[in-house]
Amino acid sequence: MKILNLHGVGDIRLEEREIGEMAPGEVLLKIGACGICSSDEARIFETGTYHFPTVPGHEFAGTIVDAADDEGKKLIGRKASVFPMLPCMECDSCKKRQYETCSNYKYFGSRNDGAFAEYLSVPVWNLNLIEDNVDIRVAALSEPAAVSLHATKKGRIKSGDDVAVIGTGAIGLMIACFARNMGGNVTVFGRRESSLAPARDLGFATGDSSSLEQGDPSFDCVFEAVGTNQAMTQAILATRAGGTIVAVGNPHGDFALSKDVYWKILRRQLDMVGTWNSSFKGETEDDWKDVAVLMAEGDIPFDKLITKTFSLDEYKEAFDFLRDKSVSKSRGMFVMDDPAC
Ligand SMILES: [Zn+2]
Ligand SMILES: [Zn+2]
Repeated sequence: MKILNLHGVGDIRLEEREIGEMAPGEVLLKIGACGICSSDEARIFETGTYHFPTVPGHEFAGTIVDAADDEGKKLIGRKASVFPMLPCMECDSCKKRQYETCSNYKYFGSRNDGAFAEYLSVPVWNLNLIEDNVDIRVAALSEPAAVSLHATKKGRIKSGDDVAVIGTGAIGLMIACFARNMGGNVTVFGRRESSLAPARDLGFATGDSSSLEQGDPSFDCVFEAVGTNQAMTQAILATRAGGTIVAVGNPHGDFALSKDVYWKILRRQLDMVGTWNSSFKGETEDDWKDVAVLMAEGDIPFDKLITKTFSLDEYKEAFDFLRDKSVSKSRGMFVMDDPAC
């Protein structure tokens, strides 16, 4: 099978490898598609990963084609996306089935080999079954969709609420879609006019994020999906008394708020909420299952979030495209096997 193997920072190679053996409890997934996340870009070109070589890719879906034992054999032929985290099952979080905050996990595509490959063996436990009517490319958006839905739920949006999303990446746009689906009046804010085009294509009102620094606060809920001091300041200034701010964006540096801005959190009694990863098979919550239902229902325009697809052979072109900051885009994706074609 073909794989993209990361040998060092900036050194990713297309290689051939034998399909690996399945361990007990695992199935063999024929990968249909795998999204290319900004964290993959960072791993490949800036930070590297835990060890080399490693096959990146953690946003994937495919078809189950083989299984190590009976439980998995029943699933052969089914489409599935994969929760990419392999939790320790022993820490306090895992005992509470809050795997997203596990303190000692492995992860497909960073600590373990991932899905920039034609096949991957994964535990049955990690499978999130997807209905047959869902396009495999849409199914491959399950991971960022679950992360986005997890964040959106933290906003406790009620029908008619005014909602702002600061940030125009795939996660920001998906949050906007889910918030609208929950009845919110959603506006997407970005720094550059060109970065707002995908949000407008999805039918959202848009605005320049610097406009949030002036005028009265006019949102019940604001999602900060950038991770900068400036965006957090804008989020605080734009939130009405009693409103909610959800911190989504990974921080790019230290955060320091001016006293005037900080006062607003107190005087307006704002709820500041953090969100991390997504819940999977939780006691009360399973964002992945919810995403699978939303994908099957077809009301959320997931397909519009895929900007461009590439074969594994086109990997150079794919990374050049994704690193070209002059083009606005939400998700690039490798497609290895498209059952529809
Ligand atoms: Zn990702
Ligand atoms: Zn754990």
